[in-house]
Formats: sequence, structure tokens, C-alpha cells
Amino acid sequence: MILLGLGANLPGRAGAPADTLDFAVACMRAAGITVARRSSWVASTPWGVLGQPAFVNGVVAIEAHVPPEALLTRCQRIERLAGRRRGRRWGARVLDIDILDWHGVIRRGCSRLILPHPEIAARAFVLEPLREIAPRWHHPLNGLTPVQMLNRVRAREGRVSGPAGSAVG
Ligand code: ATP
Ligand code: CA
Ligand code: CA
Repeated sequence: MILLGLGANLPGRAGAPADTLDFAVACMRAAGITVARRSSWVASTPWGVLGQPAFVNGVVAIEAHVPPEALLTRCQRIERLAGRRRGRRWGARVLDIDILDWHGVIRRGCSRLILPHPEIAARAFVLEPLREIAPRWHHPLNGLTPVQMLNRVRAREGRVSGPAGSAVG
């Protein structure tokens, strides 16, 4: 299974962020990528860099008979087509497409393409849509399902942001 994470929080050539995610799916199909499943597009608060517009995020399961590097290149081309210019990491952007998982392959040590995507287990905005379209998928490194990882994220958030004495787990 190949899973891609999509995100947008600035208007672009295709319109508002949700329109941009629709545009990204259409571009993938036009580029010969089979989009087998797509999640709902969900609004999420910014992660990493605060003080920027809310994101719209989603996940798609695709089939593409190209190596992962070539897939990343295609995804980056779609980002540019949507109007993305390279900016700050985690900053506001018209479209972001990350390869979350490429057939369970594990690749570390090459920063151009790290597989699986290193932040999956920490990001509710990825895990929520993943749960929707791939509930039985297991993270190639930690072996957990989206729900199991979400529970961990929620427990951690409860400890960090909850009132004193409300620690979970
Ligand atoms: P994050 O990767 O933490 O979500 P980001 O999406 O904001 O951050 P970008 O500026 O879009 O980061 O990408 C930075 C670089 O990450 C890309 O140029 C790409 O080469 C590299 N990269 C490494 N692994 C992946 C992956 N699995 N999917 C997409 N890009 C990756
Ligand atoms: Ca990203
Ligand atoms: Ca990215």
C-alpha cells in the first residue's frame, strides 16, 4: 500500500485549501496514479509553526508503479502546479504532499526521502484520516494501527495541556 498525506493552508491556483486537495487528487489521476481511496478533508490547527491559517488535511491510498523517489518528484511537481513556492519547513503553504508509507519500506539516513514519514505517529491530523481509510494498516516501524497511535497522541496531549492532576495513562 502507498499512503500519501496532503495538507494546505493558503489559497492557490485551484482556490481554497479544500479545493487544492481536490485539485491534487485530479492531478494525480492525470499523472497516471490510481487514487484507490481518499479520506475526508479535515481542518486542523497548525503544527510546528504557530500563528498561521488553519490547515485542511487528508490522506489518500494510491497505486503507482514507479520507485518512491520518482513518486516524490511527481508529488512535488503537483505542489508546484497548485502554486506552492518553497518556504519555511512547517510554514504556511498552498499544498504539501508527503509520502507516508511506500509498501512498508523502511529507509533512514537519506534526507531527500525518509520512509515511512518520520512524524506519522506524532500527528493526529495524519492519524485521523488514516484511521478513516486504512484502519488495519500497521506502521512499518512501531507496528501500531492508526487508532493505537492516536490513543498515544491523545494521552500525551492530555498530559501536556490538561489541567493539573488530569494526566492520562
Ligand atoms: P514534514 O516532512 O515534517 O511534514 P514539510 O512537509 O513541511 O515537513 P517540506 O518542506 O515539504 O517539509 O519538505 C522538505 C523535504 O523533505 C523535501 O524536500 C523532501 O525531500 C524531504 N522528505 C523526506 N522524506 C519525505 C517523505 N517521506 N515525503 C515527502 N518529503 C520527504
Ligand atoms: Ca508535511
Ligand atoms: Ca512535505
